[in-house]
This record gives sequence, structure tokens and C-alpha cells, in this order.
Amino acid sequence: MVERGHPKFHARQVLRWIFRQRAERFESMSDLPKSLRLQLEEEWSVFSTEISHHHLSPDGTDKLLLGCHDGRKIECVLMAEDDRRTICISTQVGCGMGCVFCASGLKGVERNLTRGEIVEQILRLRNLLPLDETITNLVVMGMGESLANLENLLAALDRVCSTEGLNFGQRRVTISTVGLPEKMLALAARDRQYHLAVSLHAPTEALRNELVPINEKVGLAAVVEAADAYFQKTGRQVTFEYVLLRGINDRTEDARALADLLDARKAHVNLIPYNPVEGLPFERPTPEAIRRFVEIVKSGGVSVSVRKTKGREIDAACGQLRRRLEDRVPAPSRS
Ligand code: SAH
Repeated sequence: MVERGHPKFHARQVLRWIFRQRAERFESMSDLPKSLRLQLEEEWSVFSTEISHHHLSPDGTDKLLLGCHDGRKIECVLMAEDDRRTICISTQVGCGMGCVFCASGLKGVERNLTRGEIVEQILRLRNLLPLDETITNLVVMGMGESLANLENLLAALDRVCSTEGLNFGQRRVTISTVGLPEKMLALAARDRQYHLAVSLHAPTEALRNELVPINEKVGLAAVVEAADAYFQKTGRQVTFEYVLLRGINDRTEDARALADLLDARKAHVNLIPYNPVEGLPFERPTPEAIRRFVEIVKSGGVSVSVRKTKGREIDAACGQLRRRLEDRVPAPSRS
């Protein structure tokens, strides 16, 4: 604004229109001078992405595939349940971590998302909600390794959590990471109240090396220590995510080893029954196996929950919609 000879406060007005009033065009910003609106409309756009696909699942899950200015596609999801409106956003195009069961990393990482592209996912999803509803929870669990794009992610979250953004509560944000110890410590040092979720997926070094290849460089002990340090510094309990893969990490011995590893810690385990990915050889455990796993972990003294699956009909899991639309992977039969 200042560069173009306009008073500074117009910038604040624009922000208010976008974040509070849900404006997607400058022309609707009725308290700005008409000439300024026209100028902005000509030279700028509120969003840099376009909605390439909007899928609505019968269970009320919205999934947006956004096209970036360079043609790349990113995914984000809105899940409605009772009073909760949870959104899940991406931080990268693709992912470089290579977890063997995940669709996002199949073709590696293409680039980091900008701070704007991260904010836009949040606003696009919020704008789908009726006017009397708003986002209650934000999880950074879409495509990409969140902490590999820490600076842009923090800049985006800072905006959204500021009074000039959505005034969103930091404690309602969950950042999920594959477990990059240095970045976890860097995040802890930033004095935010974000909830950290660490994708553990295996209780032993050998199994984690197989499932989460980056672990070979990092090591299980370093991940768990960094999680401890995060808790000590922020006072926020860490969640360990554990995707359950039939016959691979869902055995009785795995549950016992997991309980032993986490027993003495103030941590929570979130079990994620595997969402099958076309072309990958993994399966979701039986409900019986999931129940047994929960019981063992619980009786080992560790707090545990099982994540509900939503939006499977629309490929809402982890890089699956982008993959289907870009690579023309056939949809699984819905029998
Ligand atoms: N890079 C971050 C965010 C990734 S997605 C991380 O690793 O945590 C969030 C979670 O979904 C991770 O725990 C990831 O391992 C898990 N996930 C990936 N593919 C999955 C699938 N097909 N089914 C279930 N969970 C999956």
C-alpha cells in the first residue's frame, strides 16, 4: 500500500476482509476506495491457487485439490464431526522422507510450499464452512514433512494465529513430523504452544529402519529424546503416531515393545489403522488385532487411542487424491 502511495491502514483492512469477512475478491472490499479496489483487482489476486477439484464424501469430509501457479497440485481436507471442524493441510509438494507405506512420498519431494500456499489451504477450507461455523482444529498432517519446511510453516501459522489473521489458538494446532530431532528442538526453542505428533510407527530400530527409511540416519533413541525435550521445554505432551500394518508392526511383541519404550514417559499413542494405497503391499489389521494391540499398550501403562478414518471414499488420505488424478491410478472398487 505504502509503495503505491496509499495509506498503510488499507493493508489492515484488506487483511480483515480476507481473514474475517472471507473475501476472495478485492472488488467486494466495500470500505476501500473504488479506485484502489480496481487497481488491486488488476494487479493482484487474493489467492495464488485455484480449486482444481472439490470432493465431498458422504461422511461430510471435504477434500480440495489446489492447483498452484506452477501447475503443481496440493491437497487439504476439512472433516466435520459433532462440534469439531478439523482441517488437515500440506507443507510440501510430495515428500522426501520415503516412508514405505505412504502415497505422498512415492515420487520424492518436488518443493516446499510457500507461507502463502499454506495459509491459502486454511482459508479455502474455512470458506467452505457456513458463516456461523469456523475451524476448531488444525492438523499439519497432509502431504510433506512439516519440519522440513519449518520456517514457512511457522510464518503461516503465526499469521493464522495472530489477531490480524484468524486469531486461531496455538493449542489447537497439531504439527506432525516423521521425527527430525534437530528441527523438533528448533521448534521447541520458538516458544509456541503447538502440539507435536511424532510418527514413530515402530518400537525397535530394525523395524523403524524398514518402515521409515530416514530413521537410518536419525535413530529411534534420538527421536524419542527430542520428543522428551519438546515436552520439557513447552510443557505440551507429545503424541506418538503409529500406523498399524497387518502382520508387520501389529504383533503382540510390537505392542509390548512399544509400551516398554514409552512407559516411563508422559506421552500418548495414537494408532492409525492403515489406509490402503493402490499398488502398495500393506493391509489394515483386523479389528480384533487392533483391539488386542490397544489392550497391550494400555496395560503397559501408556495412554492410547485409535484414529477414526474419515473420507476414504474420496481418497482423503495422505497424497492419494493427487496421485489418482495426476497418475491416473484407477479407483479401488467400493464393494
Ligand atoms: N511428514 C509428517 C506428516 C505426514 S502425514 C509425518 O511423517 O508425520 C501424517 C501421518 O499419516 C503420518 O503419521 C504418516 O506416517 C501417516 N500415514 C501416511 N500414509 C498413511 C496411510 N496410507 N495410512 C495411514 N496413515 C498414513
